[in-house]
This record gives sequence, C-alpha cells and structure tokens, in this order.
Amino acid sequence: MVHAPSRPPAGAPPVRVNLYSDTQTKPTAAMKAAMMQAEVGDEQHGDDPSVHELCDRMAKLLGKEAAIFLPSGTMCNQVAILTHCRPGDEVLAHRNAHIISSEGGGPGALAGVMVTGLDGERGMFDVPTLQAAFREKRRHSPPQTLLEVEQTANFGGGAVWPIDQLNAVLHAAHEQGMATHMDGARLMNAVVAAGVPADEMVAGCDSVWLDFTKGLGAPLGAVLCGSEAFIDAAWKWKQRLGGSLRQAGIVAAACTYALDHNIARLAEDHDNAKILARGLAQLEGITVEEPETNLVFFDTTATGMTAEELSVKARAKGLMFSAMGRYRGRACTHLDVDRAGVEEGLQILREVLAA
Ligand SMILES: *Cc1c(COP(=O)(O)O)cnc(C)c1O
Repeated sequence: MVHAPSRPPAGAPPVRVNLYSDTQTKPTAAMKAAMMQAEVGDEQHGDDPSVHELCDRMAKLLGKEAAIFLPSGTMCNQVAILTHCRPGDEVLAHRNAHIISSEGGGPGALAGVMVTGLDGERGMFDVPTLQAAFREKRRHSPPQTLLEVEQTANFGGGAVWPIDQLNAVLHAAHEQGMATHMDGARLMNAVVAAGVPADEMVAGCDSVWLDFTKGLGAPLGAVLCGSEAFIDAAWKWKQRLGGSLRQAGIVAAACTYALDHNIARLAEDHDNAKILARGLAQLEGITVEEPETNLVFFDTTATGMTAEELSVKARAKGLMFSAMGRYRGRACTHLDVDRAGVEEGLQILREVLAA
C-alpha cells in the first residue's frame, strides 16, 4: 500500500478518530467567517491588505525584518534553500530532516544543492557533530552555505531543541560562515511547550517559517521570515515557482485568525499527547517514545505487525494514524481531536490488538 494514498481506500468506514496528522484539521465556522470578511487585493502586485497584515504580524512575532506568504511549508523550505544557496552548495541538516525525506528531492532537483544528514538523538545534533561535518574550504570542496534545523523535529518525535543547544549549533554555523534556516513547521508547538518567546527562540536563525496548516488549523498557507534583503530575494523564487498569488487574503485571514485563537490552545494537544502516550504504553506489544509536543511515536515490533499493517487494521475500525517507518507509527493530536477522541482511539487499538 502506498503510504500517502491519493484517494481514501474503497469501502473504508467513516473516520471516527483522526490521529494521522495535524494537517487534517478542518477550518472551523469562526475561521471561515474571518475568511469571508477578509479585505483582499492582488497579492502578486503587493495589493492584498490581509496578506500584509499577516506578514507584518509574523515578522514582529519572530523578530525579523520582513516576511513572505507562501502556499505551503515545503515551498518555504525550497524558496529558502534557493535563496541562500547556489547549485553545488552543501546544506547540513539532521539525517531525518523533512527536506531530505519528504520534499520530493526538491533541494537537488530545484536548487541543485546536496544535503548532508547529521546524526543525533531525536532529530537534533550537537556542536561537535556539526563541526565534524565542516569541510576545509578548498577548491575541490562543495561550499557549505546553509545549516538547517527543524523545530519541532518531526521524525525526531516532535522533540523541542533546548534553546542553549539550538543557539550553540546556530552560532557554530555562523562562525563557519554559513547561513542558518529553521524549518518551523511546528515552531509554535515548541514555543508553547518550552515557554520560550518565539522571537527569542529563533534569534539565531537567518530565515525561519511557520506552517499554518499543522497545529494552527488553517486550510493552507505558511509564512517565511528573514531580513529585508533575504525576503526581497525570496520573492524572485516565489514568482518563479508559481507561488505568487492573487486574492490570497482570503487564506491569510484564516492564518491571522489562527494566530489570534489557536496558539495558546496547543498546550491542550500536548496534554492529550501525554494521555495518548500513557494509554499506548499499556497496550500489549507497543513501545512508546515519550512525547514532548503533539506527536506520539511508537514501535509496533512486539505486536508482530508493521506500523502499516496495524494502521490498516485500525483504519478498518475508524482510527487513522500514520506509519513513519517499518515498525514506527505516529499518532498526532490536534484541534479536531479532544480527550474523548483520544480515549476512543485507544479503545479501537485495544480491540485491534486483542483480535
Ligand atoms: C509538514 C512539514 C513540512 C512541510 O509543510 P507543508 O505545509 O505540508 O508543505 C516541512 N517540515 C516539517 C518538519 C513538516 O512537518
């Protein structure tokens, strides 16, 4: 079975509990009302007031000079890499980074860069590991121009970089003459979990973006932030990749709504993730990685089933979660799953495992 089916499986029962991803949230009536009321204009011409409002708020929130609205987080990463790097450059990132595993080979295909994966627990690495990857600046070495970090580290289990460790690796990269980029798909989850203000958390990043379609519940949209000069250069790539939009304010309004209403409540998702993890740990054959945010990874080896096999059985009973490795499942809490939903999901898994 293909991991990300292009259509729901034929004859599948309705989904009762969706722990597949925080991308699966549906816009609420209140969010849709905000979208309906949005003042809009031609975004490509710089005439959409709702997009400007969102970008101004994001630049301020993240303590950067400027911001650019893009359709997706993947496009933020690709535009950032294209803007920071030249073909033949080397990007350093954790070996499980989304830019390596999940962006269709974009860094190679589009920017012509190579990405070298670094080792480290839970999607993070330390300064000695980073420094070991530095190359002598010689004629025959690829220019190492960019360090990329993920906050939270998705395949690292939704782990939050401790601020000191984060600043230390970003500083070491700067000392080496590299630029620094943060994939902040779930940055606000990290901010809420760590209690560190967003601008402080990303102070050492030359560029950083936030996704509005993950825990924040918007239908689409992401905002990339950086210096005036960086964002100016990023606009060229936005245009080239077909990311310039027209009345985009209708979507930006959903993102601004999310900034106002859906950040503090991420703490509920984190609490639900802990409850889910505790419940999963009691199931026969499941080993759980302790969650730090809203992603709960678990190992299915001792059930005798791959994560995919278990997920297919769960899906037949109305529970969705994702298979992120042969025996590694991921269940994700978000604003469309409450405490009762978590309990129902656990009950479904209990039944599947008992069968
Ligand atoms: C989801 C995700 C992305 C990509 O974001 P999209 O908006 O789905 O394109 C990038 N990085 C990480 C860590 C993610 O989880």
